[in-house]
Amino acid sequence: MSAAQTATAAHRSAVDELYVQVLRFPTDTPEADGTLAWDETTMVLVQAGSGTASGLGWTYGDPATANVITDLLRDTVVGRPVHDVPAVNEAMSRAVRNAGRPGLITGAISAVDIALWDLKARLLQLPLADLLGRARGDVPVYGSGGFTTYDEQQLARQLESWAEQGMNRFKIKIGEDWGGAEHRDLDRTEQARKLVGDDAELYVDANGAYTRKQAVRIGRTLAGLGVSWFEEPVSSDDLTGLAQVRDAITADVTAGEYGYDLPYFARMVPAVDCLQADATRCGGITVWLRAAAVAEAHGLQLSGHCAPHVHAHAAVAIPNLRHLEWFHDHVRIENLLFEGALDPTGGALHPGQDGEPGLGLTVRPDIAERFRAHS
Ligand SMILES: [Mg+2]
Repeated sequence: MSAAQTATAAHRSAVDELYVQVLRFPTDTPEADGTLAWDETTMVLVQAGSGTASGLGWTYGDPATANVITDLLRDTVVGRPVHDVPAVNEAMSRAVRNAGRPGLITGAISAVDIALWDLKARLLQLPLADLLGRARGDVPVYGSGGFTTYDEQQLARQLESWAEQGMNRFKIKIGEDWGGAEHRDLDRTEQARKLVGDDAELYVDANGAYTRKQAVRIGRTLAGLGVSWFEEPVSSDDLTGLAQVRDAITADVTAGEYGYDLPYFARMVPAVDCLQADATRCGGITVWLRAAAVAEAHGLQLSGHCAPHVHAHAAVAIPNLRHLEWFHDHVRIENLLFEGALDPTGGALHPGQDGEPGLGLTVRPDIAERFRAHS
């Protein structure tokens, strides 16, 4: 089939079916940040079918997300043209009005949106990066983990493994016990600085654990360790507090991982130095690209939160990308579940380089079967 015939066929293709699975992956060791602890991660995986083609999307969230897809979204999506992903995204958003869109429901919309972008690119036989159009050559990443549950040896092993891959940006969790363990937070950050060396970028994420004044005090101490990124020093719902901390410290103050719609990001931009957005929560790749534009219009960069294999292709399409989060849990899961996982060697990804269509990923059926949740 010629390229023109392929494009025409893709244009006529409709979504035939959404197939949803819930997969539960135990963590390799117990994990916690400043405000939450967990021992497993749940992935809701969507496969959108059109003829013999299938597109992959997913979100990390509660298993009930799967019910939203089958009960609230499927009838809206099936039968619509694969070609018109923004139109399907809009139809899904309108269909859930009375169910309450932000939160878990937008996670469901996100997973479907991602699957549809993958499906469209596969039907056109293009890497998704090429379908969206590139604004940049590669995608910088930073190693992210450093859970508060780790002892010194575990933290050292993790940071060293990223450094061995050529990464030069590292993020650890602080704010342990809702800000009740300041000394340990500072000790662990100091340990991390010694391990990664003075030239590396060192980031911290408090997950909203501190009070405003506490965050300013901690932030000023962390400046002495060269920390350049202070994520959610206070609750991301406290925009006034975020702005106060941002104005009082030298590190970039960042937030945005709980953004479920575009107005959220518009409200947040005046309070942060770098906006974060998560395509598996904010409404998929469709809305993530718009969040990037909101940030750009305010002179800010965007950093992709978690799920690096969802973000990589979209990230090359935006000029104001800071980087993507190479998050330990999700990297582990995505490397295990998918053939075609990306290589972060040198601290950057090169999505689509192999010419594979869509996101370039294939589910390993034996892994999906092994980790499928049985309710
Ligand atoms: Mg975070």
